[in-house]
Amino acid sequence: MGKARRSPDGGLSTAPPAWLAQGWPHIWLPYAQMKTAPAPLAVVGAKNARLKLGDGRELIDGVASWWTVAHGYDHPHIREAVARQLEVLPHVMLGGLAHEQAYTLARRLARFLPGDLNRVFFSDSGSVAVEVALKMAMQFWLNRGERGRTKILSFKGGYHGDTFATMAICDPDDGMHALFKGALSEQFVVDLPTDAAKTDALNRTLARHARDIAAVIVEPLVQGAAGMKFHSAETLRRIADAARRHGMILILDEIFTGFARTGTMFAMGQAGVVPDIVCLGKALTGGTLPLAATVASERVFEGFLSDDPAAALMHGPTYMGNALACAAANASLDLFEREPRIADAARIETALRRGLEPARGLAGVRDVRVKGAIGVIELEKLDRNDLRRRFIEKGVWIRPFANIVYTTPPFTIGDADLAKITTAMVDVVRETT
Ligand SMILES: *Cc1c(COP(=O)(O)O)cnc(C)c1O
Repeated sequence: MGKARRSPDGGLSTAPPAWLAQGWPHIWLPYAQMKTAPAPLAVVGAKNARLKLGDGRELIDGVASWWTVAHGYDHPHIREAVARQLEVLPHVMLGGLAHEQAYTLARRLARFLPGDLNRVFFSDSGSVAVEVALKMAMQFWLNRGERGRTKILSFKGGYHGDTFATMAICDPDDGMHALFKGALSEQFVVDLPTDAAKTDALNRTLARHARDIAAVIVEPLVQGAAGMKFHSAETLRRIADAARRHGMILILDEIFTGFARTGTMFAMGQAGVVPDIVCLGKALTGGTLPLAATVASERVFEGFLSDDPAAALMHGPTYMGNALACAAANASLDLFEREPRIADAARIETALRRGLEPARGLAGVRDVRVKGAIGVIELEKLDRNDLRRRFIEKGVWIRPFANIVYTTPPFTIGDADLAKITTAMVDVVRETT
């Protein structure tokens, strides 16, 4: 530990640990302009909703590591399950070999999900889970001899990942991927059917391109990483109806919304919609290890059953169904079964509504909105490095993006810590707008 000084992020801290200073010239950070990116904070431990920093400070985590840490950091039940699995078998390939954790997890996910979403294809990241869903949808039609259906219809304001196929179905103008416009395959990215005119437009597009479009994909109820925008259950039902009417495969991307984040186990439950394919990731392992899943209905799965070897789904991530990750996911599902996570989400929703309301009407505030354990203050504009620094000074980890200040805390966060998050959000917005 060196002597106290102002750290690059503005907090009063000791010198950064040697590994951080030595590794800094070699690391490339996500979504960061490396010329101006503030030096990151060294985290040496984490417990429930608190991050322990290398200099001894603690931050209350309002982000839950991109909303993955559902049960808080270092939950003993998940830690013990992963440690036990490490003794038995950390990994074995899923091609031709089987292990208990993946098979048990597949069976349990099928039971957690509604309808006949019964066939689980594992991968390691959400983007790949979406890629697999797109591939399933396109090949479903190819296997039936419908060769032209290679397009996807998605919605403005959406986010489905950072790989090339998923970038092509994200909001085309959100800034994150706009640069690649010419390099991406052209898809149909349309308005959400929030009113009658937009519903008509959606139906017209689907009718006109019924031979071109393989699938419709949407993040149900909350479009997350492209702007934390909410839409109603009615809007989701309109999308499902339109997809059905025009014979499309409906893909729900529940990578953000799944596992109680919007107040029910899955967002689709609030609309009574059951898709043909659902994508899961993020909180699947409770924020412990990377794992994602693409879960298909019997109808989609049966579209691949054939005497023709070429009809098989040709996909297989090397680490798919990793045993440690599946053990973590099984332990996380245990906690969703036996801990009051839905009630936790409702408690957080109430606290966020009350705590963020004072931001409404402040200068520069465009909207304040809450759904489940998601709280959002939308501003006219913001300087995210300045805001992040101010939050750190208040002992809170909040990571604004675009014009959004949001929180997605762990479900296990205490009321006092939650109050500190909402107070900090309102205060920082008041100080800076
Ligand atoms: C995060 C996210 C993805 C991408 O997941 P990665 O694991 O980052 O590849 C896709 N869709 C949604 C809705 C997400 O929130």
